[in-house]
Amino acid sequence: MRVASIGSGSKGNGTIVEASEGRVLVDLGFGLKETARRLAKLDLTPLDIDALIVTHEHADHILGVAQFSRKFKVPVYMTPGTFDHKRLGALEAVHPVNYEQRFKIRGLTVEPVVVPHDAREPCQYVFSEGPCRLGVLTDLGHVSAHVAKCYKECDLLLLECNYDPGMLSRGPYPAALKQRVSGNLGHLSNDQAAGLLTQLNLTRLRHLVVSHISQKNNHPDLAKAALSDPLKNWSGTLTISSQNDGFDWIQV
Ligand SMILES: [Zn+2]
Ligand SMILES: [Zn+2]
Repeated sequence: MRVASIGSGSKGNGTIVEASEGRVLVDLGFGLKETARRLAKLDLTPLDIDALIVTHEHADHILGVAQFSRKFKVPVYMTPGTFDHKRLGALEAVHPVNYEQRFKIRGLTVEPVVVPHDAREPCQYVFSEGPCRLGVLTDLGHVSAHVAKCYKECDLLLLECNYDPGMLSRGPYPAALKQRVSGNLGHLSNDQAAGLLTQLNLTRLRHLVVSHISQKNNHPDLAKAALSDPLKNWSGTLTISSQNDGFDWIQV
């Protein structure tokens, strides 16, 4: 398997997971033209995408989904709570995701994981093919016991490090938004991400991708510093996913 991103953060997300028989795009927070431009940087066109998998209905994850599905005839997988027919209109095909059931797309096994976040029915996903496991985990307010258990054994993990608490409290957001971001159903701070790492099998983890970094309330150096303690004896590779460029292909 290999994975790449066309962008990560509150202005738009999109993660590509490629298996031996095809590829899926997890979330799409960009319009059609912008998506095509970003895919081209990874040597892909929209026609290379076999399915869209959506985590939740916030605009940075769903903005481009309906248009992309209609134009390129791509099926969409999402929970029934995420699918809002009035807002999205007709899609190529909608496959309802059940939290308790893994499913397969082109040889790729997909495990939905329910997460604490302020959306209607949010979930994140663990992908596997053969012995290889790849976790995508952003947009969660705290690390539940269920999340820690589901992501314990991964070869690669995309992990949200949304904000530094000091920067958030001093930053430009209005008080209500600060409370939302740092609340139990908001986003994961650098320290909370570091806390999750202490619960994972780091001997197995080979690649960690720091994701969904806030451009206003965080800095990659602060995220790296917060993660340095749990990673002090770790020998894998650390990648930063950015809003403008996402990250280039990583082979798992
Ligand atoms: Zn988001
Ligand atoms: Zn969200």
